[in-house]
Amino acid sequence: MLNLNPIKAEYYDYLCRRCMNMSYRVRLSEKDCVFGEATTCPSCHRYKRLVTGLRAGGHIKMLLK
Ligand SMILES: [Zn+2]
Repeated sequence: MLNLNPIKAEYYDYLCRRCMNMSYRVRLSEKDCVFGEATTCPSCHRYKRLVTGLRAGGHIKMLLK
């Protein structure tokens, strides 16, 4: 299942991948994520491409965390 819907509603806010991994204690790889345009991450305040969606592998990791 490929779900490209925005994750903001489900996971509160867009974060960079590193912050996603820290916040949700998961290990998302780049291919697990769908990235939006680079902007300042609201969590670490670095200029990053934020994760705006999850691919199938990312969903599985979030469910299994
Ligand atoms: Zn961040």
